[in-house]
Amino acid sequence: MIFMLIFIFIIGLCFGSFLNVVIYRTENNISIVLPPSFCPKCKAPIKWYDNIPLLSYIILGGRCRNCKTKISIVYPLVEFLSAAITVIFFLKWRGNIPWFISSTAIAYLLIVVSVIDFKTMMLSDLFSYLIAFFGLVGSFSNPLFDGSIYQRIITSLAGIVAGAGSMFLLAWLGKLLYKKDAVGEGDMFLFGAIGSIVGAKGIIDVIIIASFVGAVYGISLILAKKLDRFSYMPFGPFLAIGCVIKFYFNISFMKIFS
Ligand SMILES: [Zn+2]
Repeated sequence: MIFMLIFIFIIGLCFGSFLNVVIYRTENNISIVLPPSFCPKCKAPIKWYDNIPLLSYIILGGRCRNCKTKISIVYPLVEFLSAAITVIFFLKWRGNIPWFISSTAIAYLLIVVSVIDFKTMMLSDLFSYLIAFFGLVGSFSNPLFDGSIYQRIITSLAGIVAGAGSMFLLAWLGKLLYKKDAVGEGDMFLFGAIGSIVGAKGIIDVIIIASFVGAVYGISLILAKKLDRFSYMPFGPFLAIGCVIKFYFNISFMKIFS
């Protein structure tokens, strides 16, 4: 079993490395396939032995071999997070391989969306469509849903409508109350996509968890004087965390309070 887990961890690292490429090239509008990896600063091509996930960062001391520019800690973090999630999800869902694959793909996409949103305050709708795709295709094996395949697809579709709808409502209310855009269009697509995984009933749980995590994060930043209360905070990463916590633990606040 331990060798199996190490193998899965390494696979996760490789996917994490690929996610870094997707993140970097989405931010910079470069084709996903070409050109090969290069240092963002000095443009020197990165040799294969300097491109080993996690290890190369540690060996190189977080700097480019050629120009010694610091490499962002985000790269090894994304790799480690992807690997850790792959192992954790495998341990939980190894008896339900289709859902293991769907949920891991969804988590990978949520990592990409979160990092891009944190850095650029932008959400790319393409990733939301892909998340919804895995949510719908994986619905037959989704442990949060029950019933026949058709009922499960309906649950997933209803989740998309409820998710996008609730964000649309929030955006409308925000505009009415604050006379400015409180919620972006990207948040609407992302939340619709999240609905495809947690269903309409799960939407409320995701909002509660996301708001809680977001509030803790925001308050700690304000206390650390890194943010004032009028700064804009990306919402996407917190929706992503809320989504993963919801479908991993299947927390249901309605059950708790009823
Ligand atoms: Zn360099």
